[in-house]
Amino acid sequence: MPELPEVQALVDFLAERTAGLAITGVELASFSVLKTFNPPPQALEGVPVDGVHRHGKFLDIDADGTHLVFHLARAGWLRWSDQLPTTVVRPGKSTIALRVRLSDGSGFDLTEAGTKKSLAAYIVKDPAEVPGIARLGPDPLADDFTLERFRSMLEGRRTQIKGLLRDQEFIAGVGNAYSDEILHVAKLSPFAIAGSLAPEVVDRLYAALRETLQGAVATASGKPAKELKDAKRAGMRVHARTGEPCPVCGDTVREVSFADTSLQYCPTCQTGGKPLADRRMSRLLK
Ligand SMILES: [Zn+2]
Repeated sequence: MPELPEVQALVDFLAERTAGLAITGVELASFSVLKTFNPPPQALEGVPVDGVHRHGKFLDIDADGTHLVFHLARAGWLRWSDQLPTTVVRPGKSTIALRVRLSDGSGFDLTEAGTKKSLAAYIVKDPAEVPGIARLGPDPLADDFTLERFRSMLEGRRTQIKGLLRDQEFIAGVGNAYSDEILHVAKLSPFAIAGSLAPEVVDRLYAALRETLQGAVATASGKPAKELKDAKRAGMRVHARTGEPCPVCGDTVREVSFADTSLQYCPTCQTGGKPLADRRMSRLLK
């Protein structure tokens, strides 16, 4: 799933490619992908693109005040084409959910692999009309996202830090992968209780949050859409690296699995050398 750094790179990529162009068509190949019905897709036809923006993990193409907003979710992706086929996309024939045509013949497809369809698109007059955007917490790379602000946001939170970092209403743009990375850099257990962190640990976590995301944005920046997934994977220290050596201390990266997700961490770096209980592992041992 693309998170803040990849979405930012997609935004920059689209901003550059769509500059000076108009949208000439929005074709739906999956009717369930579009979550709004007014304005209709035709409202974007012939409208110049004014800018491309990011809200958390949402992309927002502003076409003269009408916004095409989309969220790639778990298995969605954006496929750019300098020359789109002229044939109209047909429902149910491929992984393409939505196609956007631009005035020079280029454009992009939003695709979704897998059966759990969660890719979502919206056509709105104001991005805040998208419920997921209206509820977003602050952007962790914004200038006003200060250490003091982060400290006060954590106060009284009785939840585990891993879940809180992923919560889009707490901060916008961090998902499962970068929260694993941030906690590894901060040398913090994913199960630490957010509101109980010592002041120096909060300092470390804040620095890890900003540095990890800034570093990933710098790495992703300027890469074409098709290279972003591999670049993201290659940059991970512990996320999705179960069984591999930790690049900092050499201990084996472990995981904790849940019903539909898992987290990875290094025991030596993050939990005082003690492996965390894993539901799946303990079930196997029973
Ligand atoms: Zn380690």
